[in-house]
Amino acid sequence: MAEPHITRYIFVTGGVVSALGKGIAASSIGLLLQKRGLKVTNMKFDPYLNVDPGTMNPFQHGEVFVLDDGSETDLDLGHYERFLNQSLDQGNNVTTGQVYNSIITRERRGDYLGATVQVIPHVTEELKSRMRAPARSEDKPDVTIVEIGGTVGDIESLPFLEAIRQMALEEGQNNTLFIHLTLVPYIATAGEFKTKPTQHSVRELRGIGIQPHVLLCRSTSPLSDSIKQKISLFCSVPTRSVIVAEDASTIYDVPLRFHEQHLDQIVCEHFGMELPEPDLIEWEKLVERIKHPQRRVKIGICGKYVKLRDAYKSIIEAFVHAGVSSDAQVDLIWVSSEDIKHGGAEKYLFDVDGLLIPGGFGERGVEGKIETIRYARENKIPFLGICLGMHCAVIEFARNVCGLEDAHSYEFYRDLKHAVIHLMADQEGVTELGGTMRLGAYPCIIKEGTHSREAYGTSEISERHRHRFELNNVYREMLTDNGLVLAGTSPDDRLVEIVEVPDHPWFVAVQFHPELKSRLINPHPLFREFVRAAVDFQTRKAVPAEKEDESSDQLRKLNT
Ligand code: GLN
Repeated sequence: MAEPHITRYIFVTGGVVSALGKGIAASSIGLLLQKRGLKVTNMKFDPYLNVDPGTMNPFQHGEVFVLDDGSETDLDLGHYERFLNQSLDQGNNVTTGQVYNSIITRERRGDYLGATVQVIPHVTEELKSRMRAPARSEDKPDVTIVEIGGTVGDIESLPFLEAIRQMALEEGQNNTLFIHLTLVPYIATAGEFKTKPTQHSVRELRGIGIQPHVLLCRSTSPLSDSIKQKISLFCSVPTRSVIVAEDASTIYDVPLRFHEQHLDQIVCEHFGMELPEPDLIEWEKLVERIKHPQRRVKIGICGKYVKLRDAYKSIIEAFVHAGVSSDAQVDLIWVSSEDIKHGGAEKYLFDVDGLLIPGGFGERGVEGKIETIRYARENKIPFLGICLGMHCAVIEFARNVCGLEDAHSYEFYRDLKHAVIHLMADQEGVTELGGTMRLGAYPCIIKEGTHSREAYGTSEISERHRHRFELNNVYREMLTDNGLVLAGTSPDDRLVEIVEVPDHPWFVAVQFHPELKSRLINPHPLFREFVRAAVDFQTRKAVPAEKEDESSDQLRKLNT
């Protein structure tokens, strides 16, 4: 009889401070095991009471990462997908809100009749059951990596830590591994690295019955053997399992650094797995290209949350991936839409090679975005508009090309003469805000002869969405009569998904979020072609007109 399939578990916790990069660490471990031939899935357990981050302000939470199935999830899911090149689903992001929601529903139904419903065992049982869900599915992983949100010591993550402690008992010590990510700060006045915060944080973990097997120590530079030995001694972790997670110039280098320190070997040994070395050749090549680009291009991004880069995480990463395809470092120039509104586009954007308007909500900053788009359209600067960015592109076109001066979006004003962007029919009457937008993957059909068709190389695509408003079909004829190309629509032709401006080197605006599907080994076609167009634009700027043909020929050769 065949051996029963065993799913092993790696639990990743964080200590000392937040924002140490647990998501990158968990993704890097996942990648290394995947490259050793294992089937891996990554899960994120978030201790907050929201059912999902969909209703949270980006300042609280950063970007909301939308999956194919329409679930709105933590941005770490984006890292998992980008590193492992796989698509996840709702079950991969669990929150306290979801857990309580289902327990309370069951309690009201009478499922616990007679019992007092409590954090232990009911909440912990539910948490463990969700950790085991991938192992129960048909597509059983060899390893499930569970990242616990928050920092050890937070009151709200206690049930999560208790659940993973119990998992080790129930699944067996050899099938479970605890990895703890901490900070080893350098104190300049003392000229020393300090291990005390790590010691405290490990003590906190041990207090709840968890002894970490591996420590990932974030630091600004390499740690000496004596520091590692000290950490090893005080934290009861073998010296070779004290791994240094030094600041890296690119997050994609992190798995390679972990591999150099044998992290994947340590994991395999713990699980008693004998596996070939990971095949990292392709990954190494990509990281080399990120680190040593042949050229640089400047892309301006005009948005509302420009001071908060986490709000645009996937866009930033999509540019890293796309940059590799053009052998270019993409320098992102962040400009606040408010500044553009007051100071004009030229002042801030005169030297960019491309412009992007990201998605967003709310009226503040919209006029600055529309002005940026006018600048890109008139000066033939490559342009990519995403979701609200597409709405603004349609408003700009309606105002400045079609002459509808008061064109605007119904999202911001109800009493409009020309609502060129309107509420989608199925959004009418929707009153609850959580999880009610048009969310997730929908198909789109692309017209022949468009930039988008050329970029994708196919006419049928599927992309992820998160919106309530759409191009108002009443204005389709007027927009197209004035030259706007409706380059992509839903298969039933009821919803415009892509618009393009002709007589322009590259002007594409999309209703969906292409950034959510870009992966390092598989850059998104629109980002890839947008960056290519920006490189072309830069070359044209640098070369006098008569030399232009010759130079773009050369560029094309370089790129092929
Ligand atoms: N606020 C717009 C809508 O709801 C755009 C959303 C977005 O950019 N993700 O349709």
